[in-house]
Parts: sequence; C-alpha cells; structure tokens
Amino acid sequence: MKQKNFLFKNSSRYPFLASPHYLSLAGSSDADKDPILMQVMPSRKELRSNKKMTADPQDEKRFMPLLKLVRRYADRAVILCSNECFIHCRFCFRKRLWAKENKKWKISDEEFAKIAGYLRKNSEIKEAILSGGDPLTLADRELRRLISALDNIESIDVIRIGSRVLTANPARLTNKVLDIFSSSRKIWFMSHFNHYLEISSETEKKIRNLNAAGVLILNHTVLLKGINDSPEVLEKLFRKLVALKVKPHYLFHADPVDGNAHFMTGVDRALEIITSLRRKLSSLAMPVFAIDLPGGGGKITLSPDMRRGERHFEDVDGRIVEYF
Ligand code: SF4
Repeated sequence: MKQKNFLFKNSSRYPFLASPHYLSLAGSSDADKDPILMQVMPSRKELRSNKKMTADPQDEKRFMPLLKLVRRYADRAVILCSNECFIHCRFCFRKRLWAKENKKWKISDEEFAKIAGYLRKNSEIKEAILSGGDPLTLADRELRRLISALDNIESIDVIRIGSRVLTANPARLTNKVLDIFSSSRKIWFMSHFNHYLEISSETEKKIRNLNAAGVLILNHTVLLKGINDSPEVLEKLFRKLVALKVKPHYLFHADPVDGNAHFMTGVDRALEIITSLRRKLSSLAMPVFAIDLPGGGGKITLSPDMRRGERHFEDVDGRIVEYF
C-alpha cells in the first residue's frame, strides 16, 4: 500500500510512460536494478528534496526569443516541436515540459511560421535542432512540413533531429519517415542510447535503414549512476554503436533536475570512467564528455588531465613518460 501511495504521488507530478518495445528490453522485473526499468520507472528517490536541483537547470526560459524556440548559442537554435515522448525518462532535463500540470501540445502552424521568420532574419543561426519532447511524435505530414520549411531557409546548413525513437519505438521509423529524411540533405540524426541493452535487433535494422537513406547518426549518452556508470557497460555500448556506423558524440553528466540527484555520478567519477575508456577505445568510438553548467552557463567539455608535472605525462598504460 505504501509503495502504491508513493507511485501515485510521484507519478502524479511526473507521469510514468514507457512503450511496450522499451519495456521488452528489460532483462528483469527489478525496477531498482534493471538498467532499462530504472530509466523509466518512478522511484521514491525522486522525492528526496535538494535545493540545488531545479525544474529548468539550464535556465532555458531565459533563452527563448519566441515561444517554443530556445537559443542558447549564437549559431544554433532548438525548436520545441512537442511535449510528447514515447517514454518518460526519469532523468530528463526537460521533464518540466511533460509534468502532469501540462496539457499535451504540438507546435502550431502559427508558432512555427514565427520561428521560421526569426531564423530567416537571424542568418547567423546555422543549425536548427528539432527537439521537445520527441519530434518523432509529430505526424508524418507535420514532420515533412517542418523539415521542408527549414530546408528552404538558405542560411540553415544543418537540421538536427534529437530523438529517442530508435530505442523507444523503432517501428515509428517507417519508410515514409525515411523518405522525409532523405528528401533533405541537411539532416543529422541525434540518437540517445544509454545502455547496450537498448539496441534491439529491430533497432539495428532501423539504424541500417537510416544509414542507407544517407542520414548520419550521432549518439548522446547520459551518464547515469547504477545504470551505465561503468567502463565495461559504456565500452560495450560505444563499440556496438560504432559497428552500426553510429558515432558516439557526447557523454553527458546528468543534469541537476528536480528528483535527479540519485542519477548523478559526480564529475570525478565521470573522469575516471573516461580515463579508463580512453585506454581501450579508438577516437571513433570515444565520445566527448560534457556538462551543462547550471543557470544557462552552457555546455563545457572536460578531459582527464594526464599531466604529471611540467614535462611528464601519464601514457595509455598508466606509465609516466617525459615529453620534451
Ligand atoms: S525521450 Fe528525450 S525528451 Fe522525452 S523524456 Fe526521454 S530524454 Fe526527455
């Protein structure tokens, strides 16, 4: 009964959502240990209060020149296409968008027309990032309309699509969607895999379809305590991705979002993991480690410091070598 009350209380703030496909990837029914279930099942740990955690850790509201447009950097802008997803990731830095008090929404024609006008006027913006929520929750017709409009803006060089669809609902990547993607030469697909178990045979097939359609895929991973904070798990994930021609791009430290503290490893532990991975993986398989500074400080990348004195460095085998 206690557990039931807790689930109700927590889900009432950030509702539970998981697709049948995603749940089928779980290897057990233990929501406290299974790396798939831990990403989507509400946990009582989310209720621990921590004053440093906020609903909007990147202070995105401060960087919104228009409704549903986030512009933190001069050359990029994020279009919030929808607040719907195929799964609700408990660590999501934008979970405020799908919190219970919000109704479901999709970007309207009018909102997008204003955004397109803004992008045309601000030609220093070279990359448009379709995000949300998950942009693949849009209907084919809406997706085609957005992509073709962005395609026609001369100053936009790149259209990035940030989506969890490959692991959460690969069936959504139909031939029609592939057709929409291949109608534009500007598309880059930003996938989000956190664990090798998230790559099913169906997902592999869809990755191959994207490759065949000429869509480049870069992957983002969020480092999550108890889920993938081990060099072994990440090595396996990154090797699997590279073998499928998906470039591991970023490994992010979990953001300080409300109810997220139990997922955070700390930067020191993250750098230990990076050091260990660098000893094993080629640069193709190795992502860049980054943190998003709270309060809108933006993304910074971090590397382990291998200097050991003025002219000495630690080599890949852990030996100290002089570089003169
Ligand atoms: S799919 Fe993406 S936007 Fe949706 S909850 Fe997960 S991380 Fe957040």
